[in-house]
Amino acid sequence: MFFPTLGAIATTDVALVDIHETIRDALTMMHQHNHRSIVVKNGSVYYIITTKDMIALKTDGIAFDTPLSQIKLRVLPLIDKESNIISALSLASQTDEHICVCNADGSLYGLITNSDIISSVDPQVIMESLQIGTIFDKKYGFKSCTADMKMDEILPYMKDAPNDCIIVLENNLPIGILTSKDLLRLISESESNLGSVSEVMSSPIETMNMKDSISDALEFIKARHYKRIVAVDDSGHVAGIVTQQDLIARTYLKWSQLVNEHFQEFEELTKILQQRNRDLTIWATQDALTGLHNRHMFSELFDKELATMKRYKTRVSVIMMDLDYFKRVNDRFGHNIGDYVLKTVAQMVKSSVREADLLARWGGEEFVLLFPNSGCDEAYIAAEKIRKVLESFRFDEVGQMTCSLGITEVVEEDTLESAIERADAALYRAKESGRNQTITCEARL
Ligand code: GH3
Ligand code: MG
Ligand code: MG
Repeated sequence: MFFPTLGAIATTDVALVDIHETIRDALTMMHQHNHRSIVVKNGSVYYIITTKDMIALKTDGIAFDTPLSQIKLRVLPLIDKESNIISALSLASQTDEHICVCNADGSLYGLITNSDIISSVDPQVIMESLQIGTIFDKKYGFKSCTADMKMDEILPYMKDAPNDCIIVLENNLPIGILTSKDLLRLISESESNLGSVSEVMSSPIETMNMKDSISDALEFIKARHYKRIVAVDDSGHVAGIVTQQDLIARTYLKWSQLVNEHFQEFEELTKILQQRNRDLTIWATQDALTGLHNRHMFSELFDKELATMKRYKTRVSVIMMDLDYFKRVNDRFGHNIGDYVLKTVAQMVKSSVREADLLARWGGEEFVLLFPNSGCDEAYIAAEKIRKVLESFRFDEVGQMTCSLGITEVVEEDTLESAIERADAALYRAKESGRNQTITCEARL
């Protein structure tokens, strides 16, 4: 299945009449455009009127000078031209149902039917739905002559005839065909008197209508072992010549276009999914406000550090840090200023510690730090550094802020919970003792 956009497959050759015009106007439009259906516009609402409706109106005895606004018309569903055809499939439940494809501003871009959609997703149906007439190469056209022309005049003419043939016309209608093969035969038989075209041409000529499908054309060629098809318009005039290669090339071109569109879409989809995955990873591991690790991530990193500590018999310390009287900031200056303080503190702490030290937002205005390869003494120095940096900083509007810190050294028996519990206990004592200080809690061994 291929999924191009609706814009890529919609018919843009749409005949449009205003709702205030009459049924006859719509009928005239149908004739002029040779369309089975006409779109009726009423502001930004579009309706459809088909040949079938016309017949029904006629048999119902509705006067054709009745304005379209006075008859019951079907409203067309509207869908953006950038939409995927899959979204249109769900709208068009019946094969012949039309859908309006619109531009971003809501104006009409084109029309699409369910069969258009189907034909764009199935290569076999592409062949069935593409008309021979859509693949004529305007550059080449074709060469023609009359039946009474002398063959010796024809010979040089054939030299650069596209598709290796000349169509013999009578009253502008094709009556025969001359191919280079016919001429070759002639040349080898006699060179003196080549006669006239009528003696050499293959006649009558079998033609196809330019509106016939590519798959019919391929069948036709295969059954008759023809090299080319002369396609005519409804009045029987030659419209163009196509070869089997033209037919197949066109079908494959259409296929490859679709594959290409599909591929780009796949790429876009992959990009979106990758971005979404990245977002999800970030949401799962990062604190949205400060960009620091969140509690979940800290927990994972803690477990890793604990394992390393046990294996290499190193020392690890944890610090819990809590802003003093932070509630007052929110109360006095509002939540936004509170957030600004939190973000600033996060950056401040981050730049006060080493790259290898882990920092996370534990929740609210609490931060947790983990110092690998550090005992309580080293952690105390780091904690005091943080405390002093914060104490000496002046926040816009808010001014000075302080924090309290509790430290503990991690022991092998610890889990995250037990280590945090001790750091919290130390922090609580720091608060109790007047805040803006660091207290250490020894692990009970
Ligand atoms: P203490 O010195 O005892 O720690 O006093 P405190 O006011 O800092 O303590 P408390 O725990 O009572 O208040 C913490 C406040 O932090 C309460 C809550 O409104 C605020 N808070 C928690 N999370 C956020 C946040 O994401 N943004 C903002 N602006 N405020 C938050
Ligand atoms: Mg708190
Ligand atoms: Mg606090």
